[in-house]
Amino acid sequence: MISNKEIDMILYSLHSEVNILKTVTFENVSKTYNVGDSEVTALDHVSFSIEDESVTVILGPSGSGKSTMLNLIGGMDRASSGCIRVSDTDISKLNEFELTEYRRKKIGFVFQFYNLIPSLNALENVSIVAKMTSHSFDAKEMIRSVGLEDRCQHFPDELSGGEMQRLSIARAICKNPDILLCDEPTGALDSATGRSVLQLLTDMARKYNKTVIIVTHNASIALCANEVIHLKDGRIEFSEKNEKPLKVDEVNW
Ligand code: ADP
Ligand code: MG
Repeated sequence: MISNKEIDMILYSLHSEVNILKTVTFENVSKTYNVGDSEVTALDHVSFSIEDESVTVILGPSGSGKSTMLNLIGGMDRASSGCIRVSDTDISKLNEFELTEYRRKKIGFVFQFYNLIPSLNALENVSIVAKMTSHSFDAKEMIRSVGLEDRCQHFPDELSGGEMQRLSIARAICKNPDILLCDEPTGALDSATGRSVLQLLTDMARKYNKTVIIVTHNASIALCANEVIHLKDGRIEFSEKNEKPLKVDEVNW
């Protein structure tokens, strides 16, 4: 007969194992681009792990490799060397078909320049992506949550920069992806809208148990993250953990 205390111990150890699960792991990852005769090193032997259900911020000057890092995690591009593991899968070993499936099923991507489909209206831009997974959120509900309910019939060229950015966030979240990758997601937003978007992004990690990775220049966002990775010249300069990430309404924007 197992005592209650032993059951507690077992549950505790299971819980701790769950807690140290790493969604994303880079081992010695490099990415080089060939441009004409020269080679550009965008990432240079980078290693790190991101914990499940956390918010991670990537900071660094322009050209330091931030977007390259997101693209590799999202399976948009392949590493030149090294290993990238996402949950149990070494995504560097996936073939083209498997990599496309991985992107479609697991990844939500907020692109820096939105990448909306010009010939589809706002609602269609979101609902087309919602159809990719069986557990997506309601497209109209998502559009409402970014405050665009009266823009559903507008095409991207009839939206402001901030509205396009919010639409691209609604599209990425709507899929209810395991990993949400955001490249400067609040760059075009005023402070009130920026805050509400950041609330949505952090909710994805803390309410819906997703892994959220945000490239940003905004120090307020870094204060709300569980971990901040500083990149410089394609290398991790240092990374720091926030034991007590601030709530969105606690930060000055
Ligand atoms: P960040 O997002 O931090 O500004 P990037 O990841 O976009 O940086 O770029 C890192 C480096 O890689 C830069 O020097 C950039 O010029 C180079 N780079 C990025 N993408 C490409 C590409 N497709 N072809 C050639 N060089 C690239
Ligand atoms: Mg970039």
